[in-house]
Amino acid sequence: IPAAQHVHTLLASYPDFPQPGILFRDLNPVFADAVAFRAIIDDLSERYRGQFDAVAGIEARGFLLAAGIGYAAQCAVLAVRKGGKLPGTVLTEEYDLEYGSARLELEVGQLPAGSRVLIVDDVLATGGTVAATARLIERAGYLTIGVGVVLELAELDGRSRIGDAPVHTIVSV
Ligand code: 5GP
Repeated sequence: IPAAQHVHTLLASYPDFPQPGILFRDLNPVFADAVAFRAIIDDLSERYRGQFDAVAGIEARGFLLAAGIGYAAQCAVLAVRKGGKLPGTVLTEEYDLEYGSARLELEVGQLPAGSRVLIVDDVLATGGTVAATARLIERAGYLTIGVGVVLELAELDGRSRIGDAPVHTIVSV
């Protein structure tokens, strides 16, 4: 797809960030390019068109994608937040990161039971973040119908941790 080539040229890489041995991929130049941003929103929305009632964005860059897709598809938007930021009754999942560990949370009762949810994030690395999000979606009573990410780090094989949901990535490196 044309979006893929354009996104690929915009990616920046930073060795040893935020820790030695990690090659950090910076997607800010993708979000900062108007044509690329619109192309990734259109691509992710079209790939799952008609299949989802809500889009769940993972903090923080997943929020940017979810907002655009929610607008494009006129669907509900869920914010999956890092630990300790949500009030009321929340579901929590702990998981391991490529570097360190983390906690994700989802507020309960936002959608009807059985709602079909598309999960989006900027980068799929080890898959732990998306897998934890899928567990939150399931525990909340919804269905994960697919996963959409801008960049997949293929050598980390994050797909193998995600289960049955289809995974669509714009660029794989
Ligand atoms: P995973 O749980 O798949 O190992 O890591 C994915 C999460 O960590 C995503 O939320 C993503 O934003 C972040 N992440 C992991 N590696 C990178 C990277 O190289 N660049 C960026 N921008 N984010 C990363």
